This record gives sequence, structure tokens and C-alpha cells, in this order.
Amino acid sequence: MIISILSAMAALTGGETPMQTQANAPVMEITRKADQTPSQGSAEFFTGRVTISGLFQREAPSRVGGAIVRFEPGARTAWHLHPLGQTLIVTEGVGWTQIKGGPRLEFQAGDILWCPPEHKHWHGATPHGPMEHIAIHESQNGSPVTWMEHVTDDQYLGGAPAAEAAR
Ligand code: MN
Repeated sequence: MIISILSAMAALTGGETPMQTQANAPVMEITRKADQTPSQGSAEFFTGRVTISGLFQREAPSRVGGAIVRFEPGARTAWHLHPLGQTLIVTEGVGWTQIKGGPRLEFQAGDILWCPPEHKHWHGATPHGPMEHIAIHESQNGSPVTWMEHVTDDQYLGGAPAAEAAR
């Protein structure tokens, strides 16, 4: 029965089978995990050991890009800002983040962070364990981020509530 329907459709479309027709239609783009190559975060932009995987950047008219970023204990970004902001979806562990002039905040797996546009900040693991998040952001004039100076140990550890510092 299916064979006869395919044959009838092939006759109607001038010999193309439905399968061949589908090959010309838009298809979902899938970047297979096996074809992705994780990289180490540059020492220019990070402190400590950071692994970047799942990196993507969409073409116009989209502006969205992102990556899965894993921070080993003590690792963090340098100070930076995002011209159009950044969403962080935390997938593992506990982390710290701070916007310049504000308190250092702790977050954990399952939390979703929003860093507003043009706010200098950093994010990373705590000294006590690794943290992984998915970062999603949009580019402005071709760039999703402006990198600045490193986060010093004093800045990283500073402002810790006593309970955290004693851990
Ligand atoms: Mn950021």
C-alpha cells in the first residue's frame, strides 16, 4: 500500500519520490557532538581552568550566540560586559557572580541569571567545586562581549559572608 502511494506520487512529481523532494526542503541544522571540539578558555580572558564547548554563533538576521562554559574550582572570567546583555543557565555546581559596585551573589544549578547590557561583571566557580553554565548572548556590531582586566584574588574572595569564607 505504501509502495503504491509512493509510486503514484512519484508519477505526479515527474519522477521524484517524496524522499527526494524532502532533500531539497529546508532542514534543521544539527551540529553533532562528535563534530564539536571543546577548547580551553584563554588566559587572556579567564583565571584558572575553563573549558568551552558547544560554541555557536548564528548568522544574520539572528544575532544570538553562546557556549557551554565549565569552570574548575577557583576559575572565573575576567571583568567584562555584554553590549546586549547575557543569560546564564546554570547546569552544574555552585558559582559566584558580581556586577561592579554590587554584592557578590551565589547561584547554583538550575538557576537562570540575566546580566543587563553594558554592566561590567564577572562569573565563575567558587573555590570549593566546579560550576558549569550555558551562556547565551547577542552580538552588537559583530561582538557579544568586551573583555577587561582580570578579577584579582582579593576581588574574587572579597565580600564573602563569614559563613562562606569559613567553608
Ligand atoms: Mn558575562
